[in-house]
Amino acid sequence: MQYIDNIIFLVLLVAGFGLFAKSLQKIYRNIRVGRKINRSDRKPERWSTMARVAMGQSKMGKRPVAGILHLFVYVGFVIINIELIEIIVDGLFGTHRFLASIMGYGFYNFFTATLEVLALLVVIGVVIFFIRRNFYGVKRLTMKELFGWPRQDANWILIIEFALMMAFFTMNTSDWVLQQRGLLSEHGSFPISSTVFAPLFNSFGDGTLFFAERAAWWFHFVGILFFMNYLYYSKHLHIILAFPSTWYANLEKKGKFNNLESVTKEIKLMMDPNADPYAAPAEGAEAEAPSKFGAEDIFDLNQVQLLNAYSCTECGRCTSVCPANITGKKLSPRLILMKTRDRLEEVGRNIDKNGKFVDDGKKLLNDYITKEELWACTTCNACTEACPVLLDPLSIIFEMRRFLVMEQSAAPQELNLMMTNVENNAAPWQYNQADRLNWAND
Ligand code: SF4
Ligand code: SF4
Repeated sequence: MQYIDNIIFLVLLVAGFGLFAKSLQKIYRNIRVGRKINRSDRKPERWSTMARVAMGQSKMGKRPVAGILHLFVYVGFVIINIELIEIIVDGLFGTHRFLASIMGYGFYNFFTATLEVLALLVVIGVVIFFIRRNFYGVKRLTMKELFGWPRQDANWILIIEFALMMAFFTMNTSDWVLQQRGLLSEHGSFPISSTVFAPLFNSFGDGTLFFAERAAWWFHFVGILFFMNYLYYSKHLHIILAFPSTWYANLEKKGKFNNLESVTKEIKLMMDPNADPYAAPAEGAEAEAPSKFGAEDIFDLNQVQLLNAYSCTECGRCTSVCPANITGKKLSPRLILMKTRDRLEEVGRNIDKNGKFVDDGKKLLNDYITKEELWACTTCNACTEACPVLLDPLSIIFEMRRFLVMEQSAAPQELNLMMTNVENNAAPWQYNQADRLNWAND
């Protein structure tokens, strides 16, 4: 019987990690449909940004209550999963609380007590988040764009985390009561289970406790595997992808837009009769004009922008500070990233089905993101400033507008007029340069 347990455990373990690896591989493949971008400069700054923002959650502190609760859930959940190592060894070799033998019993007591306190903080965090999300009416968490799957997903994550923590306490409490009855050797210290939950378990018979301990142990193990594989379908992917997203973040000053090297070169040639048209491009610059200016579909976005789409936590902090959204325009920067991810997933399914992408007659522009949304943006950068994981929805808006202007000449009338004036009069106004000082005539 013991061996059957071990074999079932091994099969589940291999299947769980195998599926997870496959999902990660799919995400990596999907991101690579985007254009390459070189963000390997300023490495020390990138490492420190990642440590500060993704690991240290520095930007969460702007809203201290939510920030502290998020820290409870994040740190608690990650550290508690160290216990997965113990579960794996116990499951494979039929041992019981294996880490006690290698940590030493004194340190193991400290370790298990710490996990218990962290688990309690996770429970407090997820319960408050659930109430806040569903009953407290925080506008950015109850907006129409989250109706349906995004809202269910956010709730499911909280429910799964709660269930996993409860399984953890059930396992510890049963274990502790059995240890007190001398039916299991004494390992670990359980300050929460022994005080909060044990009074509920004391009346249970030995058989029930053994069953509860094993059932909770299996539930915890299968739950972690399920959670891991659920990530692919969830906004919760950010617990992994926030790290690369912050590493590859745009470190330039906000408001500095990327000029197209090829266009700059053309202008310089026009302005400078002595310029060498055959001069080699500067290091890091594009050698030739891109096949398309701006972005019409996800293939035209760069790989960091696609990584951003997968990393978005759908928290809505960007949308809640977006002046266009606040004043009732159709634009929501959160939705820009959500739609980009939806299109990316659609392309991924197309590749899965056909072996390579087969034109489906759809594009990110118009089929997902409308011109009205794009032109509502004031390019103020409030969204990029507010994002807790340094995502950049503005860069997607900007590239799509660049496509509309440079490839389709489809800018709004007001902009076309302004650009014609710049071209003819070297100023955005509709009069000749020579007339500029007419206002001072009298
Ligand atoms: S840059 Fe655009 S999308 Fe971002 S906050 Fe400003 S107006 Fe909104
Ligand atoms: S872009 Fe950033 S701020 Fe906006 S919803 Fe996504 S994670 Fe939150």
